[in-house]
Amino acid sequence: MNEASETAALEERPPKEYENNHRRLLALLRDVMAGLGTGQQRLDKIVRLIAAEMKADVCSCYIMRSGDMLELFATVGLNQAAVHKTRLRVGEGVVGDIAGRARSIALANARTHPNFAYRPETGEDDFRSLLGVPILRGGRVRGVLVIQHAAQRQYGEDEVETLQTVAMVVAELLAGGTLVGRQELSNVGDAALLPSRLGGVSLNGGLAIGQAVLHRHQLTIRDMVADDPNVELDRLRTALAGMYGAIDALLATTADGSEHRDILETYRMFAEDRGWLSRIREAVKTGLTAEAAVIQVQNDTRARMNQIADPYIRERLLDLDDLTNRLLRHLAGKRSATDGVAMPDDMILVARTLGPAELLDYDRSKLCGLVLEEGSATSHVVIVARALNIPVVGQCTDALNRVDPFDQMIVDGDNAQVFVRPSEDIKYTVAESMRMMAMRERLFARVRGLPSVSHDGVPVSIQLNCGLLIDLPHLEDSGADGIGLYRTEIPFMIRSSYPDVATQTVLYAKVLEMAGDKPVVFRTLDVGGDKKLPYFAGHEEANPALGWRAIRIGLDRPAMLRKQLRALLRAAAGRPLSLMFPMIAEVAEFQAARKLVDMEIAHTAAAGYPSPTKVRVGVMVEVPALLLQLPSLLPLVDFISVGSNDLAQYLFAYDRGDPRLSNRYDPLSPPMLAALRLVVDECEKARVPLSLCGEMAGKPLEAMTLIGIGFRSLSMSPPSVGPVKTMLRSLDVGRLREYLLSLNKCSSHSVRDRLRAFAKDHSILI
Ligand code: PEP
Ligand code: MG
Repeated sequence: MNEASETAALEERPPKEYENNHRRLLALLRDVMAGLGTGQQRLDKIVRLIAAEMKADVCSCYIMRSGDMLELFATVGLNQAAVHKTRLRVGEGVVGDIAGRARSIALANARTHPNFAYRPETGEDDFRSLLGVPILRGGRVRGVLVIQHAAQRQYGEDEVETLQTVAMVVAELLAGGTLVGRQELSNVGDAALLPSRLGGVSLNGGLAIGQAVLHRHQLTIRDMVADDPNVELDRLRTALAGMYGAIDALLATTADGSEHRDILETYRMFAEDRGWLSRIREAVKTGLTAEAAVIQVQNDTRARMNQIADPYIRERLLDLDDLTNRLLRHLAGKRSATDGVAMPDDMILVARTLGPAELLDYDRSKLCGLVLEEGSATSHVVIVARALNIPVVGQCTDALNRVDPFDQMIVDGDNAQVFVRPSEDIKYTVAESMRMMAMRERLFARVRGLPSVSHDGVPVSIQLNCGLLIDLPHLEDSGADGIGLYRTEIPFMIRSSYPDVATQTVLYAKVLEMAGDKPVVFRTLDVGGDKKLPYFAGHEEANPALGWRAIRIGLDRPAMLRKQLRALLRAAAGRPLSLMFPMIAEVAEFQAARKLVDMEIAHTAAAGYPSPTKVRVGVMVEVPALLLQLPSLLPLVDFISVGSNDLAQYLFAYDRGDPRLSNRYDPLSPPMLAALRLVVDECEKARVPLSLCGEMAGKPLEAMTLIGIGFRSLSMSPPSVGPVKTMLRSLDVGRLREYLLSLNKCSSHSVRDRLRAFAKDHSILI
């Protein structure tokens, strides 16, 4: 809204009497909602109330049902016999037109409307004027609310506004199941609630069935109607000030000229948009709570903007959603998105994208599936989701707009699809698949106690990747030999301040205690990139994956790294300690890091703490430059672990978090395999123990190839142990080695298909 129209809107403000009536209606509505009765009874009361308060001859409520049908759900003034009988398609008649365009319509003589559709069963021939408004929620039309008058009359702005506000209250109640049970709605389905299938890419296998929680839309508003608009305006003012302060703080830590800063500045401008703010204030003045007013403006704007295909405008819609949620959080005085929000016990989280820490904000015991509009196999949120053993489907276009909170959903991670409001036959098929999977699980459980050797007798150590204490019991369940990668940063990411030495010591000691006799390899803090610490303000980077991360931060902030090393040494008192450094790019960096370990060993002894029996220090091979320094590096290290996620990222110069690139390069390709073979050969020559802990290790076909190249230790997420061990026990390593040699000269994009065919021909269980 520009300044001129904003002033006009203010001048057109309804008179006092109208405001009082409007508020009275809202207060009466609130009583109906709070009172007893079924959904249908409440809806009947609501239409009677609206008709009486707005002095209308008719008030009717149509609700969206299956096949884009609007069904007359309740009426006063039309024939009661038409209730649940009269149905209009979206676009049919004036009511259908309101739904189709998501716009209110006020007609002094409805018969002159080109879409007028006469329905004799309703008995509406006696009524000339009609005012109808869409019932909107989440940017979609859920129904239409209509009043009619026998006499020909013009409807005023105030009446339109009142009916819109009431429609919003009805929408919230519809969605919450308070008015018409969600069960009833979804049984019959409707345009907005039709079952649908979303395709994407599989980021973690498995099947889950549960209820949707939208990462952007999780705030449920309890009070729609305000007692005192002035109090609400004050609350709004305070929340806005808080929100501006938070955005300014973000801006202050953002480098000038970065793209991120531009985005934040646009966002800040959008947050100050006078049109947006005045529409919210106006909605508050009509008697809504500040929260309800913010949602009403969002609904209204979304419904209008949704019909526009322009990508710029659609991007602004996301800003609007983001801003709305931010403002709602400030109104609720909440710190994080999940603070105090009721979550279903079988939660399927739907998000555009989210950080690993944000994922961990949700109650893990309730989280059973994840659907992302973006995301790729090696993004950290996916790695965390994999550690939690939940199926993930990524790159699901427009998922947030196509799912409603609490919708029933099925996430099929194996087939990269998501079912929203699934039909009975799909639910049946999925239940069958879940039974089959449980059977497969039982089969994998059988290999648990069997030796981890190939069919031709080659032993391969199977280790686990972990990062949370909840992962530790898997060490026992899966029969893995130890923990090949303990990602220490995950506990740092879920805390609100930097854990001190004592806190870290307790945590690492707990990990070692839970691991029992099995070895654990701790990786020092690998933050930066997409792994942000909430309390650690870095500067904005143009290329975070190439930026100030992992050991680079550790060496530049040695006090931080030393504290971690001190805690690790104390925790491992009386037993061996293995630690490794991530992202080492040159021998000198390793030497500098190693020196800090030696200093801390001396410090621990001098301070009188019992020492570990042995300290092994290793390096992750993740940066290709290290491949060219192996002969000088290997004599200095106790072991090597290949971080194939980052190695592939830097080898192919692709951002591992960018969904557009996630399938562009294949790790089963000649250059990646040549790099891996080089590491194997050099480590064999130098007799340095070698393992691989990237996502490749956990996929049977990739693991098969790695073993064929010469890897004898692989570290993977817990659910991969069964499938990889099953593959290993069916594998003839000698034959595979020969076959791989024959691929040495191959220059194709990928050798995946050939390896798959090899596995099939040789009955290898991949
Ligand atoms: C890797 O890069 O392969 C690795 C295991 O580390 P992360 O995925 O945590 O970066
Ligand atoms: Mg890495």
